[in-house]
Amino acid sequence: MQILVVNCGSSSLKFAVIDPAARTEVVSGLAQRLGGQDASITWKDASGRKHEDMIPGGDHAKAMREVYEGLKARGLAGSIAGIGHRVVHGGQLFSASVVIDEQVEKGIEACFALGPLHNPPNLLGIRICKELFPGLRQVAVFDTAFHQTMPRHAYLYPVPYEWYEKHAVRKYGFHGTSHRFVSARTVGMLNLRGDDHAVIVAHLGNGCSATAIRNGKSVDTTMGLTPLEGLVMGTRSGDVDPALVAFMAERLGKDAAAITDLLNKKSGLIGLSGVSNDMRSLLAECDKGNERAKLAVEVFCYRLAKQIAALAVPLGRLDALAFTGGIGENSVPVRAKVVEHLRVLGLVLDPARNAANGRDSNGRITTDASVAALVVPTNEELVIALDTAGLVTV
Ligand code: AMP
Repeated sequence: MQILVVNCGSSSLKFAVIDPAARTEVVSGLAQRLGGQDASITWKDASGRKHEDMIPGGDHAKAMREVYEGLKARGLAGSIAGIGHRVVHGGQLFSASVVIDEQVEKGIEACFALGPLHNPPNLLGIRICKELFPGLRQVAVFDTAFHQTMPRHAYLYPVPYEWYEKHAVRKYGFHGTSHRFVSARTVGMLNLRGDDHAVIVAHLGNGCSATAIRNGKSVDTTMGLTPLEGLVMGTRSGDVDPALVAFMAERLGKDAAAITDLLNKKSGLIGLSGVSNDMRSLLAECDKGNERAKLAVEVFCYRLAKQIAALAVPLGRLDALAFTGGIGENSVPVRAKVVEHLRVLGLVLDPARNAANGRDSNGRITTDASVAALVVPTNEELVIALDTAGLVTV
């Protein structure tokens, strides 16, 4: 049995065929620049070999049809047992993955206001797949679902309560599939008790968030109503003084939406460094002596450590800190700086283990006597495939 995993973005469509039993990827790919004359679709087979086709002017429907035809040509279409869709915002309606029916589609639509950039293309992907694969069950896996266990005092903002009642203003949190997968892996790797553990996961990719997990449940997280809150990211500011929006709107003669756009797209690492939103490029610039790149990395690490320390509050103790995502899994100096800042929580870096990304030490990058910090590769596609397989075979 195989599962097709689909992640439909505003101008892109990521897909993968996964064998959930073997936990392996059979084939995957990415259609990008959809709607443009330079739209293309790239296939990657299990050995890593890539093949790209141009689909000029191709939209999501055209890209999904390409996927369907490509799967048929590879003899895979018949073995697909279900389709798992990444859906970004489930609001307060969804606290777990669900089989998609009319009601679920309406629910995803009801969350458009909360996830205006993501939910419409997510739902479009679902509707296109319904037409192309009419006999197959489809499952929605929500980025927000894992965080629905946060207690009220963690998810409510100290703003007029009617904003929550009338407009659903609260913290939702994102990257839930990654936090769920990585925290469970961490518990397994360290042999922690399933019913008694206190773990923080730092998911550090282009988007970054950290979550406190107590006994398998998210109890607090850094992202909020939208994925702009919390940590410094590639192009997003993370936490700033909310008064900054009106202040800069007045200074620049722009409206609030335009400033929010700048906080989303021109801030974070790119805003501070003026060089790049990409951590690998920034670290290369640091090595060349670029002071602004060094400053951006310093701010990223300092703020990250401060927010990780804050997440120890709901946990009451710390059994492990797990680093994941492109930066968390690969960036040796970032992890070193963050662990250094976190001495207060009992973390002591082992530089050799860290330099090897924890490869020779079961992920561990701290000393044996220290609180554990680990590198734990994430696999969001696998979580979506496993959830889908579980729901379509019952
Ligand atoms: P993701 O969104 O999880 O793919 O992560 C993307 C981020 O990971 C980018 O900032 C990359 O520069 C960063 N990244 C990937 N590989 C490395 C590496 N070897 N060293 C430092 N950063 C890396």
